[in-house]
Amino acid sequence: MSVSTFSELMEHVGHDVQVVTYGMDDHVANVAIECHTCHVILLDFDSDVEEEVAQPQETRTFTVQSSHGIFVVEALSGKVVEVQVGDESSEVWPVEKRPIRFDVDEWEQFYKISVLHEADIDILDIGYWVPDGRYEPPVGDFRAQNGEKDG
Ligand SMILES: [Zn+2]
Repeated sequence: MSVSTFSELMEHVGHDVQVVTYGMDDHVANVAIECHTCHVILLDFDSDVEEEVAQPQETRTFTVQSSHGIFVVEALSGKVVEVQVGDESSEVWPVEKRPIRFDVDEWEQFYKISVLHEADIDILDIGYWVPDGRYEPPVGDFRAQNGEKDG
């Protein structure tokens, strides 16, 4: 049904030509240029790729160092995804006082860095929330000292 010559295509000049897709749901199996005036397909192609499976985006993380161990944190949300704190630290640093979420937005604004991907920062340098909702702000002295060291 498709056109393959000059004269065949010339017949459709001025017609209602549209590009349409065929398939199931979001999967396009075929795309076609159709003349809706004549109800014919002028040109079409089948999809030659298997349905593309959306790759889950690699989770961006950064780490926060503390004297008791490290936290692996989701860079976008600040959510703690992994805690590597020894069991022996439970007495001095009970689980309910450990961060469950870090204040990524504040940190990024302070340091003017857009994404904390693969950063490795000190727990004194970033605010965080503990399980009961209390917020522990970053330690100002720590940042001040760090600034002086650099300058
Ligand atoms: Zn036509």
